Amino acid sequence: MSAANDKTPHPRTQAVHHGSRRSQYGEMAEAIFLTQGFVYDSAEAAEARFHHAGPDEFIYARYGNPTSRMFEDRIAALEGTEDAFATASGMAAVNGALFAMCKPGDHVVAARALFGSCLYVLELLARFGVEVSYVDGTDLEQWRTAIRPGTRAVFFETVSNPTLEVIDLRAVADLAHAAGATVVVDNVFATPVFSRAVEQGADVVVYSATKHMDGGGRALAGVICGTRHFVREVVEPYLKHTGGAISPFHAWIMLNGLQTMDLRVRAQAESAAAVAAALHGHPRLSRVIYPGLPDHPQHQLAMAQMGSGGTMIAFEVAGGKDAAFAVLNRLRIIRISNNLGDAKSIATHPATTTHQRLSDADKAHLGITPGLVRLSVGLEDARDLIDDLVQALG
Ligand SMILES: *Cc1c(COP(=O)(O)O)cnc(C)c1O
Repeated sequence: MSAANDKTPHPRTQAVHHGSRRSQYGEMAEAIFLTQGFVYDSAEAAEARFHHAGPDEFIYARYGNPTSRMFEDRIAALEGTEDAFATASGMAAVNGALFAMCKPGDHVVAARALFGSCLYVLELLARFGVEVSYVDGTDLEQWRTAIRPGTRAVFFETVSNPTLEVIDLRAVADLAHAAGATVVVDNVFATPVFSRAVEQGADVVVYSATKHMDGGGRALAGVICGTRHFVREVVEPYLKHTGGAISPFHAWIMLNGLQTMDLRVRAQAESAAAVAAALHGHPRLSRVIYPGLPDHPQHQLAMAQMGSGGTMIAFEVAGGKDAAFAVLNRLRIIRISNNLGDAKSIATHPATTTHQRLSDADKAHLGITPGLVRLSVGLEDARDLIDDLVQALG
């Protein structure tokens, strides 16, 4: 996407304009086509469209809709993929991408450090006869050992939830491609702003749009980005028949979110860096995890891969669960909740909420300790966030 040479607009310009479709009224803002169906001029026209719908012809909103298509085109342009399919949630996107491509007997290699619901989707794949091998995503030797000729796909979060492990996308993609496997990444924590996932070897990039794309914690949505063949021939048939389509209203919210995403995410990441620096070395904390801090185990990789530490921080309160809860309960500006990427800063206790389902052994293995708090840094003034955290730490 070198804008200077081929005159492709820069991402911030595309985020405002790309994919717009205007009706005969020439409306300025993107219209919400809140319609499930479309009328045909004749029975023959209906027959022809069911036989083959052109790129701007629609049949039923479960298959596609003009507002949803605007969102798909816009995010595909930002991500640098040929096409995208929008879904009802991030999990519909993860489920759609993996189930659409796998069949019984296939082999998938996944990083162990995943969002709880992503782990559940992998358990479902195993139930339907897909063999799933789990690896420590930061250990290239484990990927090398687990990937074998004929492996169908590898799947991982480029930055893991909640412990912010950064996975070497290019190195894992090289191993996967050598075996003929498709590289599917959940890129939520990296954000589309800091992602160069396709350039670095990802074949399929999946997002929960609920997070940074909405940016205001209003609506659920997701998206699968990939080649036109993968999106229209593999993913679309699966999703249009199993019902994971996005609501046109939510697609409209996400279109608006994309317009300001670059500004928001950069501001949030800048604040996150300031907050992480302020927390680092605090006597009540046994650990501060932020990929932008030089002592993060994959700091160099994070900066090379994303150019930023991102909008998420994790820290471990010394004294375990009771101490962590006491800190959470003293927060005045930062809210206790479980979304992320929101304009409002949000603190989460993963061990008892988002990752509650995991066994104690799995939590320990993933570093989800009783004292761990995940912080999504929002759009407030970083000075107020630091003050809030410092007073809560006592
Ligand atoms: C939130 C999240 C999801 C699921 O997205 P929903 O929109 O809530 O369905 C998947 N992966 C990661 C990393 C997430 O943070």
